Amino acid sequence: MKAAMFHGAHKPLTIEDVDIDKPLGREVLVRTVASGVCHSDLHFIDGYYPFPTPAILGHEAAGIVEAVGLQVSELKPGDHVIACLSVFCGQCDYCLTGKTHLCQTRPVRAKTEPPKLSWKGEPVNQFANLSAYAEKMLVHENALVKIDGEMPLDRAALIGCGVTTGVGAVLNTARIEPGSTTAVFGAGGVGLAAIQGARIAGARMIIAVDTVEAKLARARELGATHVVNAAADDPVKAIRTLTNGGVDYSFEAIGLKLAAEQCFDCIRPGGTATIIGMIPVGQKIELDGPMFLREKKIQGCSMGSNRFKVDMPRYIDFYRQGRLKLDEMITRRGRLADVNEAFRAMKAGEVARTVLMFE
Ligand SMILES: [Zn+2]
Ligand SMILES: [Zn+2]
Repeated sequence: MKAAMFHGAHKPLTIEDVDIDKPLGREVLVRTVASGVCHSDLHFIDGYYPFPTPAILGHEAAGIVEAVGLQVSELKPGDHVIACLSVFCGQCDYCLTGKTHLCQTRPVRAKTEPPKLSWKGEPVNQFANLSAYAEKMLVHENALVKIDGEMPLDRAALIGCGVTTGVGAVLNTARIEPGSTTAVFGAGGVGLAAIQGARIAGARMIIAVDTVEAKLARARELGATHVVNAAADDPVKAIRTLTNGGVDYSFEAIGLKLAAEQCFDCIRPGGTATIIGMIPVGQKIELDGPMFLREKKIQGCSMGSNRFKVDMPRYIDFYRQGRLKLDEMITRRGRLADVNEAFRAMKAGEVARTVLMFE
């Protein structure tokens, strides 16, 4: 099969012929139909997070089951599925207390078993237990959720990471109340999903913060009630003015130290800041200590605290009802060979999402 190979930080991905093994035990072989280009992959290409090479990146995909291992009971060939990097074991204390997204013993192949992926006879590292920039994915059944066959798979792919992360940050991690005031830093794929999550949850004020006017315009289309251009105005001052003292809930969807600090500074006493973005490894966030006396809270967020087998079919219902807008989030469609161009466009702020199509 064809796949986009990662050779290390600052190097372009190359399209290669890769061998993929047959599904063993609880594994499923999925034919990839659509694969979204998510910003998290860029953190590895830019060298902010390490990952062993060679590897196949990509972690936001939907496709059709081609074959299943002998112990798979939940899925069969022909089923339409969304893949999720929050693969879980189902047995650890996180899984057994409903926090499958934090599972620390994610199922992987034993070292004695053959590699899932190989290139020129050597093993290839599977990224996020998915490796979705490839014509096929070999994954554990606990990394997949079956969806209705009528759901378009390019829009379903977005639910695989960006939408679940952003909407989940609001509904699952922060659990905002109807009538809340909110601010979302960053109007890329995840930020736009958080804005939609806030709209779905009934926030009365949704302030989008970005430095690109086109992204702020898209944020308005998707539910932002107010926008702040951080290139022109101090976002903390602007948010405090708009809300008479600060928002109830803020969300950081960029992965920037400064934005994370502003996210904490712009909440009112008793408010909660949720950091969704991937802050580069080794960076520290500085907070104003006395603010803890005002019960200001800051928390992390992993993949929208998802219970993806439950959440993703719900998000498809929201899409069908017109409450979750996905068509508007796909700026471009491309082929696997367009993956490097998709990263360039993302860095330039030209797109919310490029989706790579395999058929
Ligand atoms: Zn992602
Ligand atoms: Zn577990």
